Amino acid sequence: MKRVLVKETTEQIGKVVRVCGWVNSRRDHGKIIFIDLRDRSGMVQIVFTPDLKSKIYELAQKLRPEWVIEVIGEVGKRPKGMENPKIETGNIEVKGSQLKVFSQAKTLPFSIENDGYEIKEEKRLKYRYLDLRRPRLQRNLEIRQKVIQFMRNFLQKKGFLEVETPILTKATPEGARDFLVPSRIYQGKFYALPQSPQQYKQLLQVAGIERYFQIAKCLRDEDPRADRQAEHTQLDIEMSFVTQEEILDLVEKLYVSLVKKIFPEKKIQKTPFPRISWAEAIKKYKSDKPDVRRNKKDQNELAFCFVIDFPMFEWHEKEKKWGAQHHPFTKPQTEDIKEIKTCPKKILAFQYDLVLNGFEIGGGSIRTTNLDILLAVFEVLGHKPEKVKKQFPHYFEAFSYGVPPHGGIALGIERFLAILLPEPNIREVIAFPKTGDNRDLMMNIPSEVDEKQLKELGIKIIKSK
Ligand code: ASP
Repeated sequence: MKRVLVKETTEQIGKVVRVCGWVNSRRDHGKIIFIDLRDRSGMVQIVFTPDLKSKIYELAQKLRPEWVIEVIGEVGKRPKGMENPKIETGNIEVKGSQLKVFSQAKTLPFSIENDGYEIKEEKRLKYRYLDLRRPRLQRNLEIRQKVIQFMRNFLQKKGFLEVETPILTKATPEGARDFLVPSRIYQGKFYALPQSPQQYKQLLQVAGIERYFQIAKCLRDEDPRADRQAEHTQLDIEMSFVTQEEILDLVEKLYVSLVKKIFPEKKIQKTPFPRISWAEAIKKYKSDKPDVRRNKKDQNELAFCFVIDFPMFEWHEKEKKWGAQHHPFTKPQTEDIKEIKTCPKKILAFQYDLVLNGFEIGGGSIRTTNLDILLAVFEVLGHKPEKVKKQFPHYFEAFSYGVPPHGGIALGIERFLAILLPEPNIREVIAFPKTGDNRDLMMNIPSEVDEKQLKELGIKIIKSK
């Protein structure tokens, strides 16, 4: 007999169905046993009455919360006055005639009935597979999927090609520390996990793809921060033959139509999204991610803006050197190499951020395709041309075979979802997040590995603390 989802039972009145799921709760009224059965689609009430075969009735008496069961029974209307308007199946119930227990369950370490914000997060993360049974988190995963699906459809309709790029790759100067993966076959050599697909997506432009996107995992070994994750997901985009304004326009259309479709209750404060120069943002709002909402108390108010015209370089006082505001592949707003080298402070870049309610939710740039300018930028950052050519030989080689002008952007998925849902932090929109200090409490990682594995890799651990 085919299984039906509990929400489908409402269309099966008078018919015998087979439903499977978890016991959400059990109530006994006299000799009648009521079970709320939960599956991915919702909840339905099952009734077991004492006139059943004694074996089944006795089994029903044993049922406890979170046991996994199968019930076969007839769907009937609930008696008048017994309807429950709070659940979708509140007008009906299933009169259980057969019962099978797939597995029993220990008492859960916490309740999954409510939102769970009050439970210690360490505990929730340790038992994430139980925490995820919570309707709030199931809804978050569902909306996450809807958002990603929307992005995919939107871009595919506009002629973009989704391309997967490698996870085992090479260190990139994206501004954070790389996670390294030791090579067993080439001992002493390493792969790096991608901080972003930056170089690959640019090389795809050389390859003639012209319009690329990817739902990409980015991995950055940053120092622990409460609301950061070592890995995050971004919608990564790169396009050939485009202007900065065309990229911003595409992104704006994407978000406006996405919000309209998936979050119709939200109100976008202003379109076109205001374009604010970095200098103005700093002057007027004292921030490069200005919160331009008129009404900060209204949860449904969305104030998007683009911050543009960032300085190309930023001074790192601690190390007494220049760093790139975005990354070195960003195109400066001048072609004058001498000026770049002598007045780095003054140089603006074709760089832009998408900001929503005071949070940066995306950033990108038009890229330098003139290799002399790229070398000059790296020189300001303190890298000699020979070293740069050695570090990125593929770039220099590839760009000598006909490179189109190109640019792109990366849009953070988790931060956007956290603002829209709304959730207090990005962990609430990730199925298996790590703690603020980069641990996975469920899998217990990072963890030690076998001596044998280390030997194969030619690695010796020197403990520094
Ligand atoms: N790769 C950049 C980042 O991840 C985004 C971009 O420039 O497209 O921040």
